[in-house]
Amino acid sequence: MWNTLPVTDVDVDIAVVGAGAAGLSLAYRLAGTTGPHGAAPTVAVVEAPDGRTRTPPRTWCFWETGDGPYESVVRASWSRLRVRCPDGRVAEAELGATRYKMIRSPDFVALVERRLARLPGLHRLTATVDRVSDDPAGGAVVHGTDASGAPVRVRARWAFDSRPPRRLPAARSTLFQHFRGWFVRCASDAFDPSTVELMDFRTPQPAHGLSFGYVLPLGRREALVEYTEFSPAPLRREEYEQALRHYTGKVLGLDGTTVVDVEEGVIPMTDAVFPRRAGQRVFRIGTAGGATRPATGYTFAAVQRQSDAIADAWRRGRVPVPPPAHAARHRAMDAVVLRALATGRVSGARFFGELFLRNPADRLLRFLDGRSRWWEELAIGLSTPVPPMLRSAVELPVLRRRDAAVRRR
Ligand SMILES: Cc1cc2nc3c(=O)[nH]c(=O)nc-3n(C[C@H](O)[C@H](O)[C@H](O)COP(=O)(O)OP(=O)(O)OC[C@H]3O[C@@H](n4cnc5c(N)ncnc54)[C@H](O)[C@@H]3O)c2cc1C
Repeated sequence: MWNTLPVTDVDVDIAVVGAGAAGLSLAYRLAGTTGPHGAAPTVAVVEAPDGRTRTPPRTWCFWETGDGPYESVVRASWSRLRVRCPDGRVAEAELGATRYKMIRSPDFVALVERRLARLPGLHRLTATVDRVSDDPAGGAVVHGTDASGAPVRVRARWAFDSRPPRRLPAARSTLFQHFRGWFVRCASDAFDPSTVELMDFRTPQPAHGLSFGYVLPLGRREALVEYTEFSPAPLRREEYEQALRHYTGKVLGLDGTTVVDVEEGVIPMTDAVFPRRAGQRVFRIGTAGGATRPATGYTFAAVQRQSDAIADAWRRGRVPVPPPAHAARHRAMDAVVLRALATGRVSGARFFGELFLRNPADRLLRFLDGRSRWWEELAIGLSTPVPPMLRSAVELPVLRRRDAAVRRR
């Protein structure tokens, strides 16, 4: 658990606002890092108290080759991916030495806390932050209030703010990846623990956007089963429940299923530009700093790359500005995909299904991780429906960026 410490006025090298994926990953990297003069940074991590502001627990998945820094808290991993097209065709891929891995956020919090407990200059504060700005006296300053309403102030040389943005920046295309998942337990064997069903398009497709099932087996009888849409607006709770009942019962044919936990979320999919610099000494990280990949919603791996780069800049005594989470050409390709999906020019289910049928999975995973070469990206581009993608690409430069309107259904 995140402790409330009786600290209300702190002076540190680095203030980290928010203890989610980005804040904790950065704190983890900074712990044990020394600067050019051999000194470890003093760090304050400020997390919201229990309640509406604090991000609820969640599950993060990502792919990795070999063991990574968070191996001890990887809850499950898979060596094979499967994508099922709406017409029943199946793309299956062995991942070789790569694994698709799952971490649950409470385990991640515990891991980072254990590491941070060894760092003498670490302050963990529980406060609702309402302002992070440059300090006219130099450095940055974080203002908030603790659970009793008392003011909390953190002065730092540099501040990294991961609070989710209240409003999305203006964009040419905005969709939402919204989902609800059940952690299910079945009465008999029902899952293949080696294989993750990444996208199962045998779900009824919505009028706008696409939907799919996502199955993460945790054993032969346990799994996280999600119903996901990429579409203009989230559903109501009963609609997700109905979709999950249909998917688990009619599509997967599960029976004797007990729902032991649930998870839900909304991830913006947008070609908006998220400024990473909010002041001379204030930076944004995580989703707030543009780490979410526009066409897929994957964020966790980009957050790790950003955290590494920031810690490396600290080590070298450089300005620790977070680098762009995704290369400009990948953001451009994602903008075209989003435009084609948002206008309905391509059928999303067919688009993603064909992508996996016509490309080796390792090429796609390298592309999604920003490690692909231009010729691989050309091959990926040519495996998509070229006329609607070209039309979307050609019109993007002349489209105005607008505020996202969330349509309720
Ligand atoms: C349910 C769910 C599942 C996801 N699964 C995946 C996945 O499998 N793989 C993947 O790559 N991406 C996934 N994502 C997308 C993304 O990785 C997550 O949203 C991730 O948590 C984003 O990290 P973050 O640090 O930017 O934001 P968060 O993790 O939300 O962290 C922000 C932190 O700021 C704190 N905070 C907010 N306001 C204040 C305030 N005023 N004062 C102080 N603290 C504040 C919050 O409590 C929170 O701890 C998922 C998203 C959701 C919603």
